Amino acid sequence: MTSITTQDYTIHFNSNGYKALNQHLSDSNYSKVFILCDTNTNIDCVPFFLANIDTEIAYDILEIDPGEESKNLDICLGLWETLSEYGADRKSVIINIGGGVVTDLGGFVASTFKRGIDFINIPTSLLAMVDASIGGKTGIDLGTLKNQIGVINTPELIIVDTSFLETLPQLEMRSGLAEMLKHGLIYDEKYWNQLQDLSQSTIEDLDDLIYESIIIKKTIVEEDPTEQGLRKTLNYGHTLGHAIESYYMDNDNKERLLHGEAIAIGIILANHLSVKYCGFPEEKSNTIKSVIKAVYGNIDINEADYSPIIDLLKYDKKNEHGNINFVLLEAIGKPKTDCIVENEDILEAFKFYKS
Ligand code: NAD
Ligand code: ZN
Repeated sequence: MTSITTQDYTIHFNSNGYKALNQHLSDSNYSKVFILCDTNTNIDCVPFFLANIDTEIAYDILEIDPGEESKNLDICLGLWETLSEYGADRKSVIINIGGGVVTDLGGFVASTFKRGIDFINIPTSLLAMVDASIGGKTGIDLGTLKNQIGVINTPELIIVDTSFLETLPQLEMRSGLAEMLKHGLIYDEKYWNQLQDLSQSTIEDLDDLIYESIIIKKTIVEEDPTEQGLRKTLNYGHTLGHAIESYYMDNDNKERLLHGEAIAIGIILANHLSVKYCGFPEEKSNTIKSVIKAVYGNIDINEADYSPIIDLLKYDKKNEHGNINFVLLEAIGKPKTDCIVENEDILEAFKFYKS
């Protein structure tokens, strides 16, 4: 697969990536390399990575616990302190090897340590390959409120090596698929249609679909890096999706939801709102619900949950002047940003999800 060059960095694929990284390491004169991973990627991904890089530079491995709970300020503090103790200076580099938690957190830690050191993203989950590692958003959660603290800053380069997916659990694959479905819905109906039936897909097909998703994300981000307009469309399904994700994270009586699982529900809800607010065709909204429910099933949600979830919307980062701004769709591939919706219609959308 051909590398994808953005304004600030290049995304390399599979074995080409390691060649580019080796070249980058030899050109950059780094004082020290820090590899940030989580417990799972340290076992499943770091050894393969190390076997492919060729450098004399000393490296240290920084390992965090897996999962969203690690994307917080305490973990950042621990990492900044460790970097300091291990003698990291402004010519050090952090290589993030993991899912979106590692790339979001590692990007943020690097961007803030000594006012910013270089970082490199090696996404190992599907979600991080098609979304989290691309586009320069880095950050952490504030308690259970998603992505409240962060900066936009780009990596030096990205390697997307799809062979890492061999060890990724199936539920995590499904979580990543949600962002690919989002890319199809906001940008390209043909791509959405391709994703609807993956049962016959080969590994090569999956590689092509991943590549296409990265192109969609890169194209949107490049047109609007600071999220003045078009980039907001990448939040499709995320306004309610993030609120649901936070609510389930904070609620001991609920099963935990992966990011993509919450976003899949957010997409069904946003689609239903799109029918009323943007004239999105109702039968297509029904089809989208069926397609998504066939993959993700039904989550345990009932009327008592709706209001506390709606209350969490006030923390959404797209809010301006106290208004909650939704991204909705006029048609597949035709998003509309800054839509303000009534709470009673959100309640109605939850009922549609349940029906
Ligand atoms: P994650 O980083 O928690 O990874 C999911 C799980 O898979 C973890 O347990 C991890 O250890 C494991 N894993 C990862 N790669 C593996 C591999 N190759 N083999 C075996 N296990 C592996 O979660 P995620 O779904 O990758 O990312 C979700 C995060 O990404 C959320 O915090 C979300 O907010 C963020 N995100 C950020 C952006 C952005 O633009 N910055 C975009 C979308 C999502
Ligand atoms: Zn997302």
